Amino acid sequence: MTSQQEIQDREATAMAAEAAAAFLSSQEITTTNCRRCGTQIDGINGRYACSACEWVSDWAEGHTALPTAADDHAA
Ligand SMILES: [Zn+2]
Repeated sequence: MTSQQEIQDREATAMAAEAAAAFLSSQEITTTNCRRCGTQIDGINGRYACSACEWVSDWAEGHTALPTAADDHAA
């Protein structure tokens, strides 16, 4: 027999999986050359961190708006 708690746990898991899928589908892998050392690097939605020289692109330069703290609570 399935308890009420098990049903709630399954619903929570399904909702988390749905939210994760929606998040992942909004992510795009992008490529550029590091502005400091020229190494070709991959990023997500135009945001980069270079593993060769540790250059990091400015947070405001991405192709999409970053989620806010309110988005975390809404999910
Ligand atoms: Zn670099």
